[in-house]
Amino acid sequence: MNIVYGSELSERMNQELAAKVAALTGRKPRLAVILVGEDPASQIYVRSKEKACHKVGIEAETFLLPAESREVEVAGLIERLNEDPAVDGILLQLPLPKGLDKDKLIDKIAAEKDVDGLTSINAGRLANGLSGHVPCTPLGVIDLLEEMGCDFSGKHAVIVGRTRLVGLPLIHLLLKKNCTVTVCHSRTQDLPAVCRQADILVTAVGKARMFTKDYIKEGVYAVDVGISRVDGKICGDLDFDNIKELCAGITPMPKGTGPMTIARLLRNTWQAYCWREGYDQ
Ligand code: NAP
Repeated sequence: MNIVYGSELSERMNQELAAKVAALTGRKPRLAVILVGEDPASQIYVRSKEKACHKVGIEAETFLLPAESREVEVAGLIERLNEDPAVDGILLQLPLPKGLDKDKLIDKIAAEKDVDGLTSINAGRLANGLSGHVPCTPLGVIDLLEEMGCDFSGKHAVIVGRTRLVGLPLIHLLLKKNCTVTVCHSRTQDLPAVCRQADILVTAVGKARMFTKDYIKEGVYAVDVGISRVDGKICGDLDFDNIKELCAGITPMPKGTGPMTIARLLRNTWQAYCWREGYDQ
């Protein structure tokens, strides 16, 4: 059993990045974060992203818009940031207040500044094997599996969850690693039996400790993306304490995929900066 902490791996990645940013002689990379409304969880996420940027020397600025903003106003801000030469990355914090079309607004972000990798252009590039920004959480999942020492080629990877944020991009990343990929969702029949076939299991559901021993094959590499709260404490999809001995590698929740998502956001912002400035990464 190899418990891999995203909190430790992300720290190493962030230190490496901080050294690269510190060595710059010109302007620093800059991330613009747009927060519409006052959702308390989003406020916490945005603050932690800002703090992480500052820690590695990336400049970050949050643009706060009132919850009742019209779509045209949010789109106007995105367009202004698209054109601002000092801005390398733009992140639209989700979820958006009701009445705003998330998909339409995300697609307003210039693909080269879309550091969340969520625009249709970047999703299409990933699906077609072309270079572009890739969503941060799936990239962090791959980092964690690599850190576990997982040998991907020919392995059966089962992903539970099929959203644009996690499951869909992960299909392409795992295929690129020569895995055989199965994607499950709420209509999948006999989910435990499918999961028991997995050499690699990635759970992105959001149901506390759902994945018990019944879902696990001995020797699996398991990465927990799901986040729930139980009695005020953050909890993952994996029934960690009861399955960890069976796994060749496993991530905890918290201290697993969360910090990796932020580390990858910083990397994507650095990547956007390097592409724009013509630097080697
Ligand atoms: P989401 O919009 O919450 O959707 C959940 C996914 O799980 C859907 O694809 C859904 O299937 C599937 N699902 C729901 N119940 C299921 C069941 N009983 N059996 C099998 N599949 C089921 O997804 P998301 O935005 O990708 O987020 C997933 C989880 O990851 C959430 O807990 C979220 O908070 C967390 N998250 C964590 C990070 C991180 O950094 N750690 C980042 C992003 C998200 P259908 O498509 O059929 O509805």
